[in-house]
Amino acid sequence: LVEGINCVGCGVQLQTEHKGELGFTPMSALKKGLETDEVYCQRCFRLRHYNEIQPVSLTDDDFRRLLGQIADTKSLIVYVVDIFDFTGSLIPGLHRFVGDNPVLLVGNKADVMPSSLKRTKLTDWMRQQANINGIRPIDVALVSAAKNHSIDQLLAKIDKYRDGRDVYVVGVTNVGKSTLINAIIKQQTGIQDLITTSRFPGTTLDKIEIPFDDNTSLIDTPGIIHQDQMAHYLGAKELKYVSPQKELKPVVFQLNAEQTLFFGGLARLDFVQGERSPFVAYFENNLMIHRTKLANADNFYEKHAGELLVPPTSDEMTNFPALQRHEFRTKVKSDIVINGLGWVTVPANVTVAGWAPKGVSVLVRAAMI
Ligand code: GDP
Repeated sequence: LVEGINCVGCGVQLQTEHKGELGFTPMSALKKGLETDEVYCQRCFRLRHYNEIQPVSLTDDDFRRLLGQIADTKSLIVYVVDIFDFTGSLIPGLHRFVGDNPVLLVGNKADVMPSSLKRTKLTDWMRQQANINGIRPIDVALVSAAKNHSIDQLLAKIDKYRDGRDVYVVGVTNVGKSTLINAIIKQQTGIQDLITTSRFPGTTLDKIEIPFDDNTSLIDTPGIIHQDQMAHYLGAKELKYVSPQKELKPVVFQLNAEQTLFFGGLARLDFVQGERSPFVAYFENNLMIHRTKLANADNFYEKHAGELLVPPTSDEMTNFPALQRHEFRTKVKSDIVINGLGWVTVPANVTVAGWAPKGVSVLVRAAMI
């Protein structure tokens, strides 16, 4: 914290140490600002000069407080999820906090899903996943914020359901919420100078309000940090490397029982028991997948993680959590999901084990595709 110096934009206490957190301003900008007596946090600075919002993140407790305030409003909740990482996008307790307010579920990063997959099938799947988690969306939209796809349709839906109310946009970090808001800002001409930041009453939490032409606004909220996202175990470079930027190209492996697949050095899948059958892997197209014998897999990892099996690099291996085993027996065709990294579609009636760094969940779901 920089004692007693606050952002002239939003009033937050400034700090120069934690990029991406509230009140951050680079030291150079702080020095410059002090000369003119006009110090902005980096977020307000970019908003003012580039008309662009930046992600900030929050811990669970702060976020719960924030959601609690949204519960007391009459509004439309726009809940943004990453369809490549639906589980990692879940906000614990969201269904309790939205109360009677309608939820519009927005699946972002649609551009990475195989184009062979019908969009209606995808939206049905999203709705079903939401229902499992106690959320009953009034409607479902699919967009690609980065590619500017279907933003018009989303805005039309927002307009249809908001019914003169404020709109709160919520999401966990890394789902592309900031990219989406920026795409919306670009789409709406004439709101250039109207963007403002302000506080949630009684908190130090920032919100950004983008006024509609009546007396209501689109309100961006800070992203919640989801602890078991793969994102927390990878550096920015590795994260970029494992996050799909292009349409996923599924890779099919004909596997016999007692074979293992390694996904870089980040995760692993063992085919423990079952008939020879196809396994389909959905991961970032450049992530190296290596097949080996199950009996030899532990040794292989020990020897080659950080070298043949990358990422993580050998440097990063020192701090990388050990892989933990999660066993599943399938009754139907299923996906074994490594949270945030990807999934493998496996046949019915097999025993498999998914491995992920300690702290990252591995789970089974009915096959998406
Ligand atoms: P936030 O933390 O939710 O605000 O997320 P950001 O907007 O910072 O985006 C997180 C990451 O997802 C960035 O690397 C973006 O480039 C990427 N991203 C955002 N939108 C899309 C999209 O529509 N498609 C793809 N492939 N990537 C996206």
